[in-house]
Amino acid sequence: MQKLYFKEGLLGGDWALNICVEVASDGVIAAIHSGVDIPVQVEVHDTVLPSMPNLHSHAFQRAFAGLAEYREAGQSDFWSWRNAMYHFAAQMNPDALKVIASALYVEMLKAGYTAVGEFHYLHNSHTDQALAMSETILSAAEDSGIALTHLPVLYQASDFGGKPASDGQKPFLHCNKEFERLLQVLKPRINGRHQLGMAFHSLRAVPEENFAGAVDAIENINLKAPIHIHIAEQMKEVEASVAHSGKRPVEWLLENQNVDERWCLVHATHVQEHEWKAIAKSGAVVGLCPATEANLGDGLFPVPEYIQMGGGFGIGSDSHISVDAREELRLLEYGQRLARQKRTVLTYEGGGHTGEYLWREAAKGGAQALAQPIGEIAVGKRADLLVINRDNPMMTGSFYGQVMDSFIFSGQPNPISDVMVAGEWVVRGGKHKYEEDIFGAYKETVREIAMAMEA
Ligand SMILES: [Zn+2]
Repeated sequence: MQKLYFKEGLLGGDWALNICVEVASDGVIAAIHSGVDIPVQVEVHDTVLPSMPNLHSHAFQRAFAGLAEYREAGQSDFWSWRNAMYHFAAQMNPDALKVIASALYVEMLKAGYTAVGEFHYLHNSHTDQALAMSETILSAAEDSGIALTHLPVLYQASDFGGKPASDGQKPFLHCNKEFERLLQVLKPRINGRHQLGMAFHSLRAVPEENFAGAVDAIENINLKAPIHIHIAEQMKEVEASVAHSGKRPVEWLLENQNVDERWCLVHATHVQEHEWKAIAKSGAVVGLCPATEANLGDGLFPVPEYIQMGGGFGIGSDSHISVDAREELRLLEYGQRLARQKRTVLTYEGGGHTGEYLWREAAKGGAQALAQPIGEIAVGKRADLLVINRDNPMMTGSFYGQVMDSFIFSGQPNPISDVMVAGEWVVRGGKHKYEEDIFGAYKETVREIAMAMEA
Protein backbone atom coordinates (compact mmCIF):
# COMPACT_ATOMS: atom_id res chain seq x y z
CA MET A 1 0.00 0.00 0.00
CA GLN A 2 1.37 3.39 -1.03
CA LYS A 3 0.72 6.27 1.38
CA LEU A 4 0.66 9.83 0.07
CA TYR A 5 0.53 12.95 2.23
CA PHE A 6 -0.88 16.34 1.27
CA LYS A 7 -1.20 19.60 3.21
CA GLU A 8 -4.69 20.19 1.79
CA GLY A 9 -6.95 19.02 -0.98
CA LEU A 10 -10.27 18.96 -2.76
CA LEU A 11 -11.79 15.64 -1.73
CA GLY A 12 -15.07 14.16 -2.94
CA GLY A 13 -17.03 15.99 -0.26
CA ASP A 14 -15.11 19.15 0.52
CA TRP A 15 -11.75 20.77 1.25
CA ALA A 16 -9.67 18.97 3.85
CA LEU A 17 -6.35 19.54 5.61
CA ASN A 18 -3.49 17.15 6.44
CA ILE A 19 -4.60 14.35 4.18
CA CYS A 20 -3.30 10.81 3.80
CA VAL A 21 -4.39 8.94 0.65
CA GLU A 22 -3.70 5.21 0.58
CA VAL A 23 -3.34 3.70 -2.89
CA ALA A 24 -3.52 -0.06 -3.47
CA SER A 25 -1.16 -1.85 -5.85
CA ASP A 26 -3.82 -1.78 -8.61
CA GLY A 27 -3.73 2.04 -8.57
CA VAL A 28 -7.11 2.44 -6.86
CA ILE A 29 -7.66 4.62 -3.78
CA ALA A 30 -8.16 2.28 -0.81
CA ALA A 31 -8.49 4.80 2.03
CA ILE A 32 -8.49 8.55 2.69
CA HIS A 33 -7.89 10.16 6.07
CA SER A 34 -7.88 13.85 6.78
CA GLY A 35 -6.73 15.77 9.83
CA VAL A 36 -3.97 13.20 10.35
CA ASP A 37 -0.63 13.69 12.10
CA ILE A 38 1.82 13.63 9.24
CA PRO A 39 4.89 11.56 10.11
CA VAL A 40 8.28 13.24 9.92
CA GLN A 41 10.67 12.36 7.12
CA VAL A 42 7.95 11.69 4.54
CA GLU A 43 7.36 13.68 1.38
CA VAL A 44 4.48 16.09 1.94
CA HIS A 45 2.86 17.60 -1.15
CA ASP A 46 1.04 20.94 -1.16
CA THR A 47 -2.50 20.86 -2.62
CA VAL A 48 -4.08 17.77 -4.16
CA LEU A 49 -6.88 17.89 -6.74
CA PRO A 50 -8.71 15.30 -8.80
CA SER A 51 -7.32 15.17 -12.34
CA MET A 52 -9.33 16.37 -15.34
CA PRO A 53 -10.55 14.04 -18.12
CA ASN A 54 -10.14 15.46 -21.63
CA LEU A 55 -13.23 14.14 -23.34
CA HIS A 56 -12.55 15.19 -26.92
CA SER A 57 -9.31 14.97 -28.88
CA HIS A 58 -8.21 14.65 -32.51
CA ALA A 59 -4.54 14.02 -31.75
CA PHE A 60 -3.10 14.70 -35.22
CA GLN A 61 -4.55 18.24 -35.20
CA ARG A 62 -2.02 19.25 -32.49
CA ALA A 63 0.58 19.75 -35.21
CA PHE A 64 -1.90 21.81 -37.28
CA ALA A 65 -2.50 24.35 -34.49
CA GLY A 66 -1.59 27.86 -35.65
CA LEU A 67 -1.49 26.93 -39.33
CA ALA A 68 -4.96 28.20 -40.19
CA GLU A 69 -4.97 31.72 -38.78
CA TYR A 70 -4.48 33.40 -42.15
CA ARG A 71 -7.37 34.74 -44.20
CA GLU A 72 -7.33 34.07 -47.93
CA ALA A 73 -9.57 36.05 -50.23
CA GLY A 74 -13.15 34.96 -49.60
CA GLN A 75 -14.85 33.53 -46.56
CA SER A 76 -12.89 32.29 -43.55
CA ASP A 77 -15.07 30.00 -41.47
CA PHE A 78 -15.33 26.50 -40.06
CA TRP A 79 -15.70 25.03 -43.54
CA SER A 80 -12.63 26.74 -45.02
CA TRP A 81 -10.66 25.67 -41.92
CA ARG A 82 -11.84 22.12 -42.49
CA ASN A 83 -10.48 22.05 -46.06
CA ALA A 84 -7.06 23.19 -44.84
CA MET A 85 -7.20 20.56 -42.08
CA TYR A 86 -7.95 17.80 -44.61
CA HIS A 87 -4.88 18.84 -46.58
CA PHE A 88 -2.82 18.49 -43.40
CA ALA A 89 -4.45 15.17 -42.43
CA ALA A 90 -3.37 13.73 -45.78
CA GLN A 91 0.27 13.97 -44.57
CA MET A 92 -0.32 11.61 -41.63
CA ASN A 93 0.90 8.02 -41.42
CA PRO A 94 1.21 5.75 -38.36
CA ASP A 95 4.79 6.90 -37.60
CA ALA A 96 3.96 10.61 -37.71
CA LEU A 97 0.74 10.11 -35.74
CA LYS A 98 2.62 8.17 -33.06
CA VAL A 99 5.10 10.99 -32.51
CA ILE A 100 2.45 13.74 -32.52
CA ALA A 101 0.02 11.87 -30.25
CA SER A 102 2.79 10.98 -27.76
CA ALA A 103 3.87 14.62 -27.49
CA LEU A 104 0.28 15.78 -27.17
CA TYR A 105 -0.47 13.30 -24.40
CA VAL A 106 2.64 14.43 -22.50
CA GLU A 107 1.41 18.03 -22.82
CA MET A 108 -2.01 16.94 -21.57
CA LEU A 109 -0.55 15.21 -18.51
CA LYS A 110 1.48 18.29 -17.63
CA ALA A 111 -1.71 20.37 -17.95
CA GLY A 112 -3.64 18.10 -15.56
CA TYR A 113 -5.52 15.84 -17.98
CA THR A 114 -4.94 12.18 -17.05
CA ALA A 115 -7.45 10.57 -19.43
CA VAL A 116 -8.24 11.37 -23.03
CA GLY A 117 -11.19 10.54 -25.29
CA GLU A 118 -9.55 10.08 -28.67
CA PHE A 119 -12.27 10.73 -31.26
CA HIS A 120 -10.33 8.91 -33.91
CA TYR A 121 -11.44 9.30 -37.52
CA LEU A 122 -8.07 9.51 -39.26
CA HIS A 123 -8.05 5.77 -40.00
CA ASN A 124 -6.12 5.96 -43.30
CA SER A 125 -8.59 3.29 -44.31
CA HIS A 126 -8.01 4.10 -48.01
CA THR A 127 -4.44 2.74 -47.60
CA ASP A 128 -5.47 -0.12 -45.32
CA GLN A 129 -3.81 1.34 -42.23
CA ALA A 130 -6.87 1.50 -39.97
CA LEU A 131 -5.61 -0.99 -37.40
CA ALA A 132 -2.11 0.52 -37.41
CA MET A 133 -3.51 4.03 -36.86
CA SER A 134 -5.58 2.86 -33.86
CA GLU A 135 -2.64 0.89 -32.43
CA THR A 136 -0.53 4.00 -32.80
CA ILE A 137 -2.93 5.94 -30.59
CA LEU A 138 -2.86 3.15 -28.01
CA SER A 139 0.92 3.00 -28.00
CA ALA A 140 1.19 6.81 -27.65
CA ALA A 141 -1.07 6.54 -24.59
CA GLU A 142 1.09 3.75 -23.17
CA ASP A 143 4.34 5.67 -23.76
CA SER A 144 3.05 8.85 -22.16
CA GLY A 145 1.18 7.19 -19.28
CA ILE A 146 -2.21 8.77 -20.00
CA ALA A 147 -5.41 6.69 -19.78
CA LEU A 148 -7.07 6.31 -23.17
CA THR A 149 -10.72 5.99 -24.05
CA HIS A 150 -10.36 5.05 -27.67
CA LEU A 151 -13.33 6.10 -29.82
CA PRO A 152 -12.95 4.82 -33.38
CA VAL A 153 -15.22 6.98 -35.51
CA LEU A 154 -17.73 5.81 -38.09
CA TYR A 155 -17.55 8.12 -41.11
CA GLN A 156 -19.33 7.35 -44.38
CA ALA A 157 -20.65 10.43 -46.17
CA SER A 158 -19.95 14.08 -46.85
CA ASP A 159 -23.44 15.28 -45.99
CA PHE A 160 -26.97 14.31 -45.04
CA GLY A 161 -28.64 11.73 -47.24
CA GLY A 162 -25.44 9.69 -47.70
CA LYS A 163 -23.82 12.17 -50.08
CA PRO A 164 -20.55 10.62 -51.34
CA ALA A 165 -17.39 11.49 -49.41
CA SER A 166 -14.95 13.98 -50.92
CA ASP A 167 -11.34 13.03 -51.73
CA GLY A 168 -10.17 14.69 -48.51
CA GLN A 169 -12.50 12.45 -46.51
CA LYS A 170 -11.31 9.16 -48.08
CA PRO A 171 -8.92 8.31 -45.19
CA PHE A 172 -11.85 8.42 -42.75
CA LEU A 173 -14.23 5.91 -44.34
CA HIS A 174 -15.56 2.52 -43.27
CA CYS A 175 -18.65 0.55 -44.20
CA ASN A 176 -20.48 -0.85 -41.16
CA LYS A 177 -18.97 -4.31 -41.64
CA GLU A 178 -15.39 -3.04 -41.73
CA PHE A 179 -16.07 -0.82 -38.75
CA GLU A 180 -17.47 -3.71 -36.73
CA ARG A 181 -14.40 -5.78 -37.60
CA LEU A 182 -12.10 -2.95 -36.46
CA LEU A 183 -13.90 -2.79 -33.09
CA GLN A 184 -13.66 -6.56 -32.69
CA VAL A 185 -9.93 -6.60 -33.47
CA LEU A 186 -9.31 -3.72 -31.06
CA LYS A 187 -11.34 -5.25 -28.23
CA PRO A 188 -8.64 -7.59 -26.78
CA ARG A 189 -5.90 -5.02 -27.35
CA ILE A 190 -7.51 -2.28 -25.22
CA ASN A 191 -7.41 -3.14 -21.53
CA GLY A 192 -5.99 -2.05 -18.18
CA ARG A 193 -6.66 1.65 -17.70
CA HIS A 194 -7.78 2.02 -21.33
CA GLN A 195 -11.37 1.81 -22.55
CA LEU A 196 -12.94 1.14 -25.93
CA GLY A 197 -16.00 3.04 -27.10
CA MET A 198 -17.11 4.35 -30.47
CA ALA A 199 -18.21 7.56 -32.13
CA PHE A 200 -20.39 8.67 -34.97
CA HIS A 201 -18.58 11.51 -36.65
CA SER A 202 -21.83 13.47 -37.04
CA LEU A 203 -25.30 13.13 -38.48
CA ARG A 204 -23.81 14.51 -41.70
CA ALA A 205 -21.30 11.68 -41.96
CA VAL A 206 -23.45 8.64 -41.14
CA PRO A 207 -26.74 7.87 -42.93
CA GLU A 208 -29.48 7.22 -40.37
CA GLU A 209 -30.04 3.64 -41.49
CA ASN A 210 -26.46 2.79 -40.44
CA PHE A 211 -26.73 3.95 -36.81
CA ALA A 212 -28.38 0.83 -35.39
CA GLY A 213 -25.75 -1.59 -36.72
CA ALA A 214 -22.89 0.45 -35.27
CA VAL A 215 -24.57 0.73 -31.87
CA ASP A 216 -25.11 -3.06 -31.92
CA ALA A 217 -21.43 -3.55 -32.76
CA ILE A 218 -20.21 -1.68 -29.68
CA GLU A 219 -22.94 -3.09 -27.43
CA ASN A 220 -21.84 -6.61 -28.39
CA ILE A 221 -18.46 -5.69 -26.91
CA ASN A 222 -19.63 -3.72 -23.88
CA LEU A 223 -23.16 -2.62 -23.05
CA LYS A 224 -21.80 0.36 -21.14
CA ALA A 225 -19.23 1.53 -23.68
CA PRO A 226 -19.17 5.28 -24.39
CA ILE A 227 -20.78 6.56 -27.60
CA HIS A 228 -19.80 10.04 -28.79
CA ILE A 229 -20.98 12.26 -31.64
CA HIS A 230 -20.30 15.76 -33.01
CA ILE A 231 -23.87 16.98 -32.89
CA ALA A 232 -24.67 20.64 -33.65
CA GLU A 233 -21.47 22.63 -34.05
CA GLN A 234 -22.46 24.89 -36.91
CA MET A 235 -25.76 26.52 -37.96
CA LYS A 236 -25.16 25.28 -41.51
CA GLU A 237 -25.41 21.67 -40.30
CA VAL A 238 -28.52 22.44 -38.24
CA GLU A 239 -30.16 23.91 -41.35
CA ALA A 240 -29.07 20.95 -43.50
CA SER A 241 -30.50 18.57 -40.90
CA VAL A 242 -33.85 20.37 -40.91
CA ALA A 243 -33.89 20.37 -44.72
CA HIS A 244 -33.12 16.63 -44.77
CA SER A 245 -35.33 15.19 -42.02
CA GLY A 246 -37.41 18.10 -40.76
CA LYS A 247 -35.55 17.73 -37.44
CA ARG A 248 -32.73 19.66 -35.82
CA PRO A 249 -29.72 17.38 -35.06
CA VAL A 250 -30.36 17.04 -31.31
CA GLU A 251 -34.09 16.49 -31.96
CA TRP A 252 -33.33 13.74 -34.46
CA LEU A 253 -30.80 12.02 -32.21
CA LEU A 254 -33.01 12.03 -29.13
CA GLU A 255 -36.03 10.79 -31.06
CA ASN A 256 -34.20 8.05 -32.94
CA GLN A 257 -31.45 6.75 -30.63
CA ASN A 258 -31.51 5.48 -27.08
CA VAL A 259 -29.49 8.41 -25.75
CA ASP A 260 -28.52 7.80 -22.11
CA GLU A 261 -25.56 8.06 -19.71
CA ARG A 262 -23.23 6.40 -22.24
CA TRP A 263 -23.60 9.19 -24.74
CA CYS A 264 -21.52 12.33 -25.12
CA LEU A 265 -22.92 15.08 -27.35
CA VAL A 266 -19.86 17.01 -28.45
CA HIS A 267 -20.43 20.62 -29.55
CA ALA A 268 -24.14 20.66 -28.72
CA THR A 269 -23.68 24.34 -29.51
CA HIS A 270 -26.85 25.18 -31.40
CA VAL A 271 -29.78 23.96 -29.33
CA GLN A 272 -33.19 25.29 -28.50
CA GLU A 273 -34.79 25.11 -25.07
CA HIS A 274 -36.64 21.85 -25.67
CA GLU A 275 -33.38 20.28 -26.88
CA TRP A 276 -31.14 21.20 -23.94
CA LYS A 277 -33.89 20.22 -21.53
CA ALA A 278 -34.14 16.82 -23.23
CA ILE A 279 -30.36 16.32 -23.14
CA ALA A 280 -30.32 17.10 -19.41
CA LYS A 281 -33.11 14.58 -18.85
CA SER A 282 -31.38 11.87 -20.88
CA GLY A 283 -28.35 11.67 -18.56
CA ALA A 284 -25.95 12.19 -21.48
CA VAL A 285 -22.95 14.49 -21.10
CA VAL A 286 -22.49 17.58 -23.26
CA GLY A 287 -18.89 17.83 -24.49
CA LEU A 288 -17.72 21.44 -24.64
CA CYS A 289 -14.41 22.52 -26.17
CA PRO A 290 -14.43 26.27 -25.48
CA ALA A 291 -11.03 27.16 -26.99
CA THR A 292 -11.65 25.30 -30.24
CA GLU A 293 -15.28 26.43 -30.42
CA ALA A 294 -14.08 30.04 -30.09
CA ASN A 295 -11.29 29.50 -32.62
CA LEU A 296 -13.70 28.04 -35.18
CA GLY A 297 -16.40 30.63 -34.61
CA ASP A 298 -18.93 27.99 -33.56
CA GLY A 299 -21.14 29.74 -31.00
CA LEU A 300 -22.10 29.35 -27.34
CA PHE A 301 -24.01 26.53 -25.69
CA PRO A 302 -26.55 27.77 -23.07
CA VAL A 303 -24.62 26.32 -20.13
CA PRO A 304 -26.32 28.16 -17.21
CA GLU A 305 -29.86 27.10 -18.14
CA TYR A 306 -28.69 23.55 -18.89
CA ILE A 307 -26.89 23.05 -15.57
CA GLN A 308 -29.91 24.39 -13.71
CA MET A 309 -31.82 21.44 -15.15
CA GLY A 310 -29.11 19.11 -13.78
CA GLY A 311 -27.35 18.66 -17.14
CA GLY A 312 -23.83 17.20 -17.07
CA PHE A 313 -20.89 18.56 -19.05
CA GLY A 314 -17.20 17.95 -19.56
CA ILE A 315 -14.40 19.63 -21.48
CA GLY A 316 -12.18 18.66 -24.39
CA SER A 317 -9.27 20.26 -26.21
CA ASP A 318 -10.51 19.04 -29.62
CA SER A 319 -8.19 20.72 -32.18
CA HIS A 320 -5.56 21.42 -29.48
CA ILE A 321 -5.04 25.09 -30.18
CA SER A 322 -4.88 25.05 -26.39
CA VAL A 323 -3.86 22.12 -24.20
CA ASP A 324 -4.83 23.49 -20.82
CA ALA A 325 -7.85 22.46 -18.73
CA ARG A 326 -7.71 25.76 -16.84
CA GLU A 327 -7.95 27.79 -20.06
CA GLU A 328 -10.90 25.72 -21.31
CA LEU A 329 -12.82 26.35 -18.08
CA ARG A 330 -11.88 30.02 -18.01
CA LEU A 331 -13.16 30.46 -21.57
CA LEU A 332 -16.30 28.49 -20.79
CA GLU A 333 -17.12 30.96 -18.02
CA TYR A 334 -15.95 34.06 -19.93
CA GLY A 335 -18.06 33.24 -22.98
CA GLN A 336 -21.14 33.27 -20.75
CA ARG A 337 -20.05 36.47 -18.98
CA LEU A 338 -19.58 38.27 -22.30
CA ALA A 339 -22.89 37.08 -23.68
CA ARG A 340 -24.86 38.02 -20.52
CA GLN A 341 -22.92 40.99 -19.12
CA LYS A 342 -22.75 39.21 -15.74
CA ARG A 343 -20.00 37.73 -13.52
CA THR A 344 -19.55 34.31 -11.85
CA VAL A 345 -22.23 32.82 -14.08
CA LEU A 346 -21.40 29.14 -13.65
CA THR A 347 -21.50 28.03 -10.04
CA TYR A 348 -23.55 26.12 -7.50
CA GLU A 349 -27.24 26.83 -7.11
CA GLY A 350 -27.37 29.40 -4.34
CA GLY A 351 -23.82 30.60 -5.04
CA GLY A 352 -20.24 29.55 -4.40
CA HIS A 353 -16.81 29.50 -5.97
CA THR A 354 -16.90 29.41 -9.77
CA GLY A 355 -13.45 27.80 -10.08
CA GLU A 356 -14.27 24.96 -7.74
CA TYR A 357 -17.67 24.39 -9.34
CA LEU A 358 -16.23 24.27 -12.86
CA TRP A 359 -13.42 21.88 -11.95
CA ARG A 360 -15.64 19.49 -9.98
CA GLU A 361 -18.43 19.33 -12.55
CA ALA A 362 -16.20 19.05 -15.63
CA ALA A 363 -14.16 16.32 -13.91
CA LYS A 364 -17.30 14.40 -13.03
CA GLY A 365 -18.92 14.78 -16.47
CA GLY A 366 -15.68 13.98 -18.30
CA ALA A 367 -15.17 10.81 -16.26
CA GLN A 368 -18.69 9.66 -17.14
CA ALA A 369 -18.24 10.41 -20.83
CA LEU A 370 -14.98 8.43 -20.95
CA ALA A 371 -16.10 5.56 -18.67
CA GLN A 372 -12.99 6.21 -16.58
CA PRO A 373 -13.14 5.71 -12.78
CA ILE A 374 -11.79 9.18 -12.02
CA GLY A 375 -13.22 12.69 -11.55
CA GLU A 376 -12.99 12.89 -7.76
CA ILE A 377 -10.67 11.86 -4.98
CA ALA A 378 -12.67 9.13 -3.27
CA VAL A 379 -12.27 5.54 -2.13
CA GLY A 380 -12.75 3.18 -5.07
CA LYS A 381 -11.71 5.77 -7.68
CA ARG A 382 -8.42 5.44 -9.53
CA ALA A 383 -5.58 7.46 -8.01
CA ASP A 384 -5.35 10.08 -10.79
CA LEU A 385 -4.19 13.13 -8.87
CA LEU A 386 -2.68 16.56 -9.41
CA VAL A 387 -0.52 18.53 -7.05
CA ILE A 388 -0.54 22.33 -7.13
CA ASN A 389 2.64 24.00 -6.02
CA ARG A 390 1.57 26.70 -3.54
CA ASP A 391 4.98 28.40 -3.91
CA ASN A 392 3.84 29.71 -7.27
CA PRO A 393 3.19 33.48 -6.84
CA MET A 394 -0.25 33.28 -8.48
CA MET A 395 -1.32 30.80 -5.79
CA THR A 396 -0.38 33.03 -2.86
CA GLY A 397 -2.99 34.20 -0.37
CA SER A 398 -5.87 31.95 -1.40
CA PHE A 399 -7.54 29.45 0.89
CA TYR A 400 -10.04 26.59 0.43
CA GLY A 401 -12.50 27.43 -2.37
CA GLN A 402 -10.37 30.40 -3.46
CA VAL A 403 -7.57 27.99 -4.34
CA MET A 404 -9.50 26.77 -7.37
CA ASP A 405 -10.47 30.32 -8.34
CA SER A 406 -6.81 31.35 -8.29
CA PHE A 407 -5.81 28.16 -10.10
CA ILE A 408 -8.21 28.85 -12.98
CA PHE A 409 -8.62 32.63 -13.06
CA SER A 410 -5.34 34.22 -11.99
CA GLY A 411 -2.98 33.79 -14.87
CA GLN A 412 -1.13 31.70 -17.43
CA PRO A 413 1.79 29.99 -15.61
CA ASN A 414 1.01 26.38 -14.89
CA PRO A 415 1.22 25.74 -11.13
CA ILE A 416 0.75 21.95 -11.47
CA SER A 417 3.95 20.38 -10.17
CA ASP A 418 3.12 16.66 -10.05
CA VAL A 419 0.65 14.39 -11.80
CA MET A 420 -0.24 10.81 -10.87
CA VAL A 421 -2.04 8.24 -13.03
CA ALA A 422 -3.22 5.01 -11.37
CA GLY A 423 -0.85 5.44 -8.44
CA GLU A 424 2.23 6.28 -10.52
CA TRP A 425 3.81 9.70 -10.80
CA VAL A 426 4.13 10.59 -14.49
CA VAL A 427 4.98 14.28 -13.99
CA ARG A 428 7.31 15.39 -11.19
CA GLY A 429 8.47 18.94 -10.56
CA GLY A 430 6.60 20.06 -13.69
CA LYS A 431 8.46 17.63 -15.97
CA HIS A 432 7.35 14.44 -17.65
CA LYS A 433 10.05 11.79 -17.42
CA TYR A 434 10.25 11.22 -21.19
CA GLU A 435 9.49 14.74 -22.40
CA GLU A 436 12.90 15.53 -23.84
CA ASP A 437 12.89 12.53 -26.18
CA ILE A 438 9.21 12.82 -27.02
CA PHE A 439 9.28 16.58 -27.75
CA GLY A 440 12.55 16.16 -29.69
CA ALA A 441 10.94 13.57 -31.97
CA TYR A 442 7.86 15.80 -32.30
CA LYS A 443 9.88 18.77 -33.55
CA GLU A 444 11.70 16.66 -36.09
CA THR A 445 8.48 15.10 -37.42
CA VAL A 446 6.62 18.40 -37.64
CA ARG A 447 9.55 19.98 -39.50
CA GLU A 448 9.44 17.11 -42.01
CA ILE A 449 5.69 17.51 -42.50
CA ALA A 450 6.07 21.27 -42.99
CA MET A 451 8.75 20.69 -45.62
CA ALA A 452 6.62 18.09 -47.41
CA MET A 453 3.69 20.51 -47.47
CA GLU A 454 5.86 23.34 -48.84
CA ALA A 455 7.23 21.10 -51.63
ZN1 LIG B 1 -14.07 17.25 -32.82
